[in-house]
Amino acid sequence: MNRRIIPAALMALFLLSTMSTAAPEKIESGSQLTIAKNLIGSASAGKEIQQISPAGRIAPAATKGGTYFLMGNIKDASGVIDTDRGTQQTSFGGEIAFSLREDDKGIQTLELVRLNLLSPGVGTAAGPSGTIGLNLIEDSAKTNYDQKSGQISSQFRSRLHYALIDKTKGFIPGGGKESDVFYSYIETMSGQLDAKLPLDLKLAEGSTTSLNGEIVLVLDDPVIGALQNMRIVISIRDLWISMTEPAEILNVQPVFIGTGRSDPTATGTVYPTLIRRAAEIWNRCGTERCLTIRSNDPIYIDDDGYRVIEGGETAIITGTSEAYDLMDEVDVLDAVEVFVVERWDPFFDGGGATWSSGTASAKIVTCDQQLDVPCPPPSGLWGCSGGSCGDVNYYHLAHELGHVLNLCHPDPGDYCGSGMSRGSANSILEPSGFCRDNPDVQSARNCRLSSSPLLYWGRSACTGSPDISD
Ligand SMILES: [Zn+2]
Repeated sequence: MNRRIIPAALMALFLLSTMSTAAPEKIESGSQLTIAKNLIGSASAGKEIQQISPAGRIAPAATKGGTYFLMGNIKDASGVIDTDRGTQQTSFGGEIAFSLREDDKGIQTLELVRLNLLSPGVGTAAGPSGTIGLNLIEDSAKTNYDQKSGQISSQFRSRLHYALIDKTKGFIPGGGKESDVFYSYIETMSGQLDAKLPLDLKLAEGSTTSLNGEIVLVLDDPVIGALQNMRIVISIRDLWISMTEPAEILNVQPVFIGTGRSDPTATGTVYPTLIRRAAEIWNRCGTERCLTIRSNDPIYIDDDGYRVIEGGETAIITGTSEAYDLMDEVDVLDAVEVFVVERWDPFFDGGGATWSSGTASAKIVTCDQQLDVPCPPPSGLWGCSGGSCGDVNYYHLAHELGHVLNLCHPDPGDYCGSGMSRGSANSILEPSGFCRDNPDVQSARNCRLSSSPLLYWGRSACTGSPDISD
């Protein structure tokens, strides 16, 4: 991208957009919020809570007023992206949330606290962009809210990633003791949200309101710079108002090698156990934040060539491993793909890894040997001297999903990707190698710092609580 054109051209677009009125005429997007009421303080709360979401961040009690969350899923929002091949149209999904604090005099202060955006991508000069994902860099963004008019204006910065960045630049190996995570190069954008809430906004627990507006994003820190600025029209009919946050869902798409469900030789034998353990350990976030791991039905690839991934760590680092061809086989927009092969030849350090960690393009490749580590333990791998063999790695997938959720290894000596957070020491984010399991320990910090453009608001029970705080 020609950086010299940024200031004049992009600022003009930015200013134009900030001056335009919200609620544009061409609104194709709807919104769906699949959340039930979370009846904190209600007489029927006990029963409801079992079925819905008891968890989430409970706002501090206030004698009058209080803090509410306004949340909605963005669906099919029309977007226009200026690319290095001209202007392209696409659609975005995602999630948005504000916190709204009302003081005892009824004065309301609003903050944008979540904005995830996800698009299947557009064409660029170098080919399809692939999945585009954006999420906020900061926990909350400076937001002006005019209570009288309902007008919201928020400035924020977002992490931008799309699959073409990985294809062009490759990955940054996490290094350290266990090489099970490969980071993407990340771009950043400056964003502005101009939107409108209804004039007569009533803050009632469990009620809904609407939100109409637009988001303008300008690239400010390019890596390949194929996508330069974006304009997205949002129209959310059901923005849910509650004093607690509901569940956020992460969809997992399993991919096995074989002809189908009835193929007795199909890979993926470890998956039911590993996904159950992963769902359980992330469900423990409950009292801190409700995160739910949900699995799609498996997709099968009928190609025996993928049963054994040949080429070791060097092939992975140089981008020549078969694992990359495998990952190119399946792309599900709103899910993290988990490819399960029979084994790696030679053995690969953790027996599996996450690529594009923390982004919407995140994918995991792992193997059925996680619960069938050869005996005696393979030599030459970190952690295998004095380690175990057999059914060892029950928490391996839970650990890799931590990488998907933007968390790095706790050890400061390991690389941590741009805008990512370190997981807690002695928690599930601690690397373990192929011959030891990751700790069966969840932390409040891991839960709090998790993020992914793939997360969306949903209905789920969160019954657990973290084992440790930090
Ligand atoms: Zn790891």
